Amino acid sequence: MSQYVGTYHSHPNKEYFFEWAYPSNMDISYARYSKDPYMIIIALSRSGKARRELQLEVRKDRAYQFTYNPKLDAHDPPDQVELGHDISYLFGSFLEYTFEMRAYSYNAKGLLNMNLISSEAELLNQLGQNKIKIDTLSAADVFRLRKIEYNLRENNERHGKNTEYHLERLKSLDINSNLKLNVCSLIIRCSS
Ligand SMILES: [Zn+2]
Repeated sequence: MSQYVGTYHSHPNKEYFFEWAYPSNMDISYARYSKDPYMIIIALSRSGKARRELQLEVRKDRAYQFTYNPKLDAHDPPDQVELGHDISYLFGSFLEYTFEMRAYSYNAKGLLNMNLISSEAELLNQLGQNKIKIDTLSAADVFRLRKIEYNLRENNERHGKNTEYHLERLKSLDINSNLKLNVCSLIIRCSS
């Protein structure tokens, strides 16, 4: 059974720029109308020519509260106040695309930045650190990656040991890889 917690939408653009996954004035007005607890915004640009492998990493930015400004246009940036702490968001690239995902929570005033983390970003990071490059994955190897990704989501000591076990087994394989993971299983954690 799943629980409805909110919506996501994308901001497509030719060029990548830093604040493209920030909410627009219209996004705040929508949030105030729908009152959904969470909103995810994905900035998507197709600026690179190179066909790059999937990269996904967690980055930090300052947290803001965004509030609706009735004097501004729908596509203008809303009013924003810095909250005094950092949040994490996801930054990635795949083929010629660059993307960024940011999560927001709704309160009566508007939208606030939340931490957005990804067990898949952590998995890619750990595979990189362990120099595991796998080109043709057998079904059994794919199963190990799924186990590791699940362990990273659960994030406790028992699952940590299980991750080490699967990483060790994968390290013993000597094949190159184009690892393709979907980015659907994001974990959202509220920033305190
Ligand atoms: Zn938007």
